[in-house]
Amino acid sequence: MKGFCPSCEKESELTRIIRVEDFTVKNEIIPVEVELFACLECGEEFDDPMSEADPYAIAYREYRKRKGMVQPEEIRSLRERYFLTQRELSLLLGFGGATLSRYENDALQDETHDTILRLVMDPKNLLSIVREKGRLLNGDKGGKLVEQLEKEIREKETLSYLQTRGYGPVDTFSGNKEMSLLRTLCAVKAICYKNNVYKTKLNKLLFYADFKNYEQTGSSITGLRYVHLKHGPVPDQFEIIYEYLLGLDPTLTKEEDSYLDCSAEIFRSEGEPDTTMLTFTELSVLGSVKEYFKNFTAKAITDFSHEEEGYKQTRDKEFISYEFAKKLKI
Ligand SMILES: [Zn+2]
Repeated sequence: MKGFCPSCEKESELTRIIRVEDFTVKNEIIPVEVELFACLECGEEFDDPMSEADPYAIAYREYRKRKGMVQPEEIRSLRERYFLTQRELSLLLGFGGATLSRYENDALQDETHDTILRLVMDPKNLLSIVREKGRLLNGDKGGKLVEQLEKEIREKETLSYLQTRGYGPVDTFSGNKEMSLLRTLCAVKAICYKNNVYKTKLNKLLFYADFKNYEQTGSSITGLRYVHLKHGPVPDQFEIIYEYLLGLDPTLTKEEDSYLDCSAEIFRSEGEPDTTMLTFTELSVLGSVKEYFKNFTAKAITDFSHEEEGYKQTRDKEFISYEFAKKLKI
């Protein structure tokens, strides 16, 4: 190609070459591929003045990788996730004014700063800092951030607990879908919207909606696993899951209903489900299952579910494969 050679001081025939050069970063030698131009007339090699690639940035990135340090984009995405400006995060971490800006623009962080940055990648650590120093942020930003972090931590803990109980694999027991607490929330809210639903009935309605959807599309709505219990098929770990959902969404409520000697829990949602999280088919399956069992009491739907093949052919505490959806009675 033609280009200006600074050595010949004229337009010459140039070629691009890639050469590996060693960069030294804090006593580590890091080879970096550098793009150069070579002049075919005088043999001189020189940098591409238009090149965006900064070989030092590349060397730092490799150095951070070797040392397990935080990368610039991780800092940026941490900030963005919590809606913090560089200034705000600096205030929380006790960093000087331009420090974060330099780090986000490829400068190599010092070790103390890196230790702090790595710690706050764990929401629990960030939470204790925000609890202590959140007042440094404007308005109620600190309070909101505490709320967001608490939510996130609860979700993480719930998910990891569920994983210890067998949730996780995407298979015929999850209806070929990854279990999602948010989608479960949508399904629960769709069932309970402006509607009082006994917990026993809610368990069965979720079962029917998930299995019906599996029958129609080959995947469940929520990814919940269903287990054979005395009172029929129910979502595995439903107590933990409902408690989590109740904490997540204040429009979803639970009331104790005491009648004679029995006490039962009633779920209700005053808020509409976030329909953007579910497909049209999923919403209509939820709607038709709800409609089908509209006049069923908790007892009636329990008895009905006892006649399902998926229930009859499994034993106590056994998981029910979604393959039984083909034999669903509705
Ligand atoms: Zn030249």
